[in-house]
Amino acid sequence: MAAEFDLVVRNGSIADGTGATLREGDVAVRDGRIVAVGEGLGSGAEEIDARGKLVAPGFVDIHTHYDGQATWDARLNPSSWHGVTTIVMGNCGVGFAPVRASDHSRLIELMEGVEDIPGAALHEGLKWNWESFGDYLDAIDRVPHDVDIGTQLPHGALRVYVMGERGAALEAATDGDIAEMRRLSADAMRAGALGFSTSRTLNHKTVKGDPTPSLRATEAELTGIVLGLKDAGSGVIEMISDFNQPDLPTEFGMIRRLVEASGRPLSLSLAQGHSYADGWRRILKLIEESAAGGLPIKAQVAPRPIGVLLGLQGSVNPFLTYAAFQDIKNKPLADKVKAMRDPSFRARILSEAAEREKAQAQRGIMAFDRMFPLGDPPNYEPAKETSIAAVAARSNRSAADIAYDLLLEDEGRAFLFSPFANYANYNLDHCAEMIAHKDCVMGLGDGGAHVGTISDASYATYLLAHWGRDRAKGRFDIGYLVKRQTADTARAVGLYDRGIIAPGMKGDLNVIDMDKLAVKAPTMAYDLPAGGKRLLQGAAGYEATIVSGEVVYRNGEATRALPGKLIRGPQAAPR
Ligand SMILES: [Zn+2]
Repeated sequence: MAAEFDLVVRNGSIADGTGATLREGDVAVRDGRIVAVGEGLGSGAEEIDARGKLVAPGFVDIHTHYDGQATWDARLNPSSWHGVTTIVMGNCGVGFAPVRASDHSRLIELMEGVEDIPGAALHEGLKWNWESFGDYLDAIDRVPHDVDIGTQLPHGALRVYVMGERGAALEAATDGDIAEMRRLSADAMRAGALGFSTSRTLNHKTVKGDPTPSLRATEAELTGIVLGLKDAGSGVIEMISDFNQPDLPTEFGMIRRLVEASGRPLSLSLAQGHSYADGWRRILKLIEESAAGGLPIKAQVAPRPIGVLLGLQGSVNPFLTYAAFQDIKNKPLADKVKAMRDPSFRARILSEAAEREKAQAQRGIMAFDRMFPLGDPPNYEPAKETSIAAVAARSNRSAADIAYDLLLEDEGRAFLFSPFANYANYNLDHCAEMIAHKDCVMGLGDGGAHVGTISDASYATYLLAHWGRDRAKGRFDIGYLVKRQTADTARAVGLYDRGIIAPGMKGDLNVIDMDKLAVKAPTMAYDLPAGGKRLLQGAAGYEATIVSGEVVYRNGEATRALPGKLIRGPQAAPR
């Protein structure tokens, strides 16, 4: 007898994405959609026994940078190892369309500088068989993928396309330029972009050190572009801005006017800064006031520190700029480790460290007072007294001496963790406030980017494991955390066809063993085009990740199924 359903996930503990209390039951999928949720459902051609396991909707990660990778790679790893079944890319104003042939290198330099994706990998990997944003969507569509992909129109590419050299040189857009950007932005939304993104931060620079093209875009320019979204009747706005405190009311006033003029929802990056630990509260207050007045503005937040991984394989380590280190800087890992185990080499590094300490040159991300051994399993909420500086203060060794040994652990594969945001007070209490806040949405994972220094695409797993199970205090209900990474993120980008386990919704599911759920230690892989390296980070506990009713990962191993699709435009809720 033929099975009633394509897939039945049976007897699981269902967190349905609405935040409701978990309930036992079966989930049945047919033709890629959930068709029944309940007890004792009929048979499936494939059945998964989920007794004792959490069954959740597939996670939706709205802040990634797979714009290059998605054109050459069927797998959106590391995100798809973390239960993510929908990624949204094209964030922070960077991406690869629209583009003229003469600007290919320019956009690569921008992506390499802003998102730390190796230029050589991009040069080799990108086929550039597109010019318009619509052509780019078609190119993505032709590559089979493990998970679904949503895109956004990046301001940097748009500006360079319309204004050429003037756009890259940060010149003001003319009325003609603005009209053209408005027309193209409406076209991009109609072709299937989920939104438009822009960057107004000085931290974003091309690999040559030039500021990102959108940095000083005027209000008139931004208004013109978001009116393109209004013209098309769809699209969200994503923005990253510096929000320097004295400028905050001015900058935020403009953001409000953009949302008022376009009627389109906007989200902006929000993290706790280390120089002004309460600055994020001022920004969130302004968002709250806007939301109370009916303006759809949200803050994208992260559930853990945002930080750099320092290691002998990574792009940075505490001794990278030391004179002695230059001798081994470009050598293979094994040679570095061998050299560093030589006592005379160690003495050279440590004496240089002592000099630098005297000159107080050891600052910024290299500061040992906010640098920790990451460990395995990784610890993203390390106690203050475990910082390298604190350990040194309790011993008769210098911080550099201790860091030196830590870098050599695991044959040189260990990482040190240096948070640069979200860790001002050496704890994540403020993240709890953000996770609980109705005007915040989970984001900032940057999957596919910063591949030599940062590995935050594992947030989705961390959110559930740390905040639902491991943290000593301030834990959240699992059903609520699931909602935060599914229905809430999906809706923030206009996707109402997923993120909830109910009949008619997409058959995107996770079967999770909550006892085993964990973020694994990051590792360096050398598998980008042109042999480029990237940090990868896996997870344990995902027994099955399912996209459109097909299992794409089983216990962390890829199956052969590649059911992921390009998402064209916002998706309505099923009737
Ligand atoms: Zn970003």
